[in-house]
Amino acid sequence: MKWKKQIANLKAYQPGRSIESVKKEYGLEEIIKLASNENPFGSSDRAKEWVQSYTSSYAIYPDGYATVLRSALSEFLGVKETQLIFGNGSDEVILMISRAMLEPGKNTVMADLTFPQYRHNAAVEGAEVREVPLVNGAHDLEAMLAAVDEQTAVVWLCSPNNPTGIYIKNDELIQFLNKVPQDVLVVLDEAYHEYVTADDYYNAVEIAEQYPNVIVLRTFSKIYGLASFRVGYGFGSEDVIRALEPIREPFNVNTLGAGAALAALSDQEFVEMCRTENKKGLEQFYQFCQSENLDYYPSEGNFVLINFKCDSDDVAQYLMRKGYIVRSGNALGCPGAVRVTIGSQEQNEGAIRAMKSFLAENSIRQ
Ligand SMILES: *Cc1c(COP(=O)(O)O)cnc(C)c1O
Repeated sequence: MKWKKQIANLKAYQPGRSIESVKKEYGLEEIIKLASNENPFGSSDRAKEWVQSYTSSYAIYPDGYATVLRSALSEFLGVKETQLIFGNGSDEVILMISRAMLEPGKNTVMADLTFPQYRHNAAVEGAEVREVPLVNGAHDLEAMLAAVDEQTAVVWLCSPNNPTGIYIKNDELIQFLNKVPQDVLVVLDEAYHEYVTADDYYNAVEIAEQYPNVIVLRTFSKIYGLASFRVGYGFGSEDVIRALEPIREPFNVNTLGAGAALAALSDQEFVEMCRTENKKGLEQFYQFCQSENLDYYPSEGNFVLINFKCDSDDVAQYLMRKGYIVRSGNALGCPGAVRVTIGSQEQNEGAIRAMKSFLAENSIRQ
């Protein structure tokens, strides 16, 4: 059959192990999943209550334009309704951007390491992928700028960056945006935006206001804890959104997802609680790393990348046997390291205990 040439070597997404499959394999009663940056506190009760109270027909197509959620989010963010686009998760907005802009003969610039969906979607479209190594876990914006040429359509910035957790500082971002050609779309993926507390973090709404070639991506999957419903969104200039909108599948955002997101948005106290607990959890892991002399990146997300300086699959396997699922750096492109999602205080304590016993048994400390 006549497949696109560029998809011949693509691999299907490898999800983290499910709780059920690990329980079965290791005969464990309880499994704590700290592998996919999911919210250990679940989601707002308001979302659950809304879903449970939903009694309308399942037979009716959803409002793919997400009119009610759009209106609430527009007010919440202080952007126009016509500056928003919704996706089946922000993953789908990444796909829409790629589909709309990338093709053979064009290129796209991103960090190495960063969220793998940018590269994956660019590969599907047959665009050249230019990956610019991180420096100390951070985007090298100067080098990324140098990688941009006439054929560059999209630059992907992930801030805080998955999997390092490092964010882009306001001044750096502005310097970059002042220099990048205005016909290059800059995607600012802020899946972890709500977790950030750093003072010199930029204000993405102001950035999007000032730079019409920027689109900001956010999601209800992370701090809002609604990953299973698949609701993400982008905001940017009306021109960019208008150009993207025809690429969106008509019913990409479903009724239950949009309703749950709307309910969750109204509960900012829950968001605040998660942000506060996440900070405390990060501190737990930092203290552990410091006491064990392990390198880590200070993170503004809900995860931390820890360098165990050994085969990360060994660490991940060991922790799995103890009932903790984490993401091995081998799967993320950073062998030697492990990405751990910040859990509840108790979950973090348990994971740290298991990590300590791994270190003691393997005595790989330097
Ligand atoms: C989790 C994540 C996403 C995707 O989130 P969805 O809205 O669930 O598709 C996008 N970007 C980054 C960096 C992420 O970590």
